[in-house]
Amino acid sequence: MGKGNRPIDKSMAKTIFEGNILIPLPKLLVGNRFHSLFSIISPTHCDFCGTKLNVDSHYTRFILTSYSTITLNTTYWICPNCQKHYHDEIVGVSGSANYSDEFYDKQKFVRYDGRCSLNNSCRIGEDIQKA
Ligand SMILES: [Zn+2]
Repeated sequence: MGKGNRPIDKSMAKTIFEGNILIPLPKLLVGNRFHSLFSIISPTHCDFCGTKLNVDSHYTRFILTSYSTITLNTTYWICPNCQKHYHDEIVGVSGSANYSDEFYDKQKFVRYDGRCSLNNSCRIGEDIQKA
């Protein structure tokens, strides 16, 4: 037994902000820039005609992640010129999925045959049966 205090690994220390423990999230390369996991990337201009997009509506998405279920306020966009619709991208979440890519990968890795009792996991069972 050593004497005195044990050295503390300060690299893993977490910060508390307004009663919550803050966890730094990994950064992912999207296009040519690094973005934090679960950050929101909004489209700005129409892919077809180049017109600046207007806000169409706001909506809240709930995403299952290995950190916990998170809520994100995202936006639907519309081109005022050609009426095409666009939506925000969430870094680390494919399309309109209810779970993050890292959550899906961990679930596939841990479970056999896609059988599991977690919510929203029936998609995995479908995919494996089709394959
Ligand atoms: Zn347009």
